[in-house]
Amino acid sequence: MRLKIVAGNWKMNTTYNEGISLAENVLEQTGNIASGKELIFAAPFIHLKALAEIAAKHNNIKVAAQNCFYETKGAFTGEVSPAMLKSVGCSYVIVGHSERRNLFNETEEIILKKTLAALYENLKVIYCCGEPLNIRESNKHKEYVAEQLNGSILKLSETQIKNIVIAYEPIWAIGTGKTASAEQAQEIHAFIRSAVKAKFGAAIAADITILYGGSVNAANAKELFNQPDVDGGLVGGASLKAEEFAAIANAI
Ligand code: PEP
Repeated sequence: MRLKIVAGNWKMNTTYNEGISLAENVLEQTGNIASGKELIFAAPFIHLKALAEIAAKHNNIKVAAQNCFYETKGAFTGEVSPAMLKSVGCSYVIVGHSERRNLFNETEEIILKKTLAALYENLKVIYCCGEPLNIRESNKHKEYVAEQLNGSILKLSETQIKNIVIAYEPIWAIGTGKTASAEQAQEIHAFIRSAVKAKFGAAIAADITILYGGSVNAANAKELFNQPDVDGGLVGGASLKAEEFAAIANAI
């Protein structure tokens, strides 16, 4: 069954106490999440253990890291391994966010290595893809996204792909207040699902969750999530406002 998900990517925001209050405040407004749906907090590393403990007291609330390293342990100052994430109760890790691609030079090859390392530790992966503005304007977004997918998650096995959530996030819509229209989102989500189908078959493609990310807010969430191939959202800015994020979560 295809899971519906709303995930809040806090990025590098909130001190420890601020983060805990934010999550508690959101959960006061959403209550338990119905089965077949998940609400995910993708928080900075320092929050993950406490958030996992809070999440465990509710139904269908999960915790994600925003990044991990691909090595298992060793002299990699500042890095965090998938096993470490697992050990604090994390269920997911975001891999390939455009900020990590652009600011930290993460290539598709690095993203695949991180994905494999995370899957090896039984973490689920939220794999991000999406095109910059010039590519969208030249109507080459499908080719661009296909190349991203071909370089990483389409190389996985059938068992591995079942633990991937895809987040389509057009870079021109991230943090800009510009959202892809529901039609634009549906078009590329259907394309992504067809690429998964071509590689892994109809059953896996029908089950894979594909999230939209890029200036999702309480006002546009419902229309986006109502598209047949949009299975929820990866939410940045609006996930830092408890009331707004709860409203988005309640829209899946
Ligand atoms: C994101 O960074 O994943 C994101 C979608 O950000 P925003 O919602 O702020 O555009």
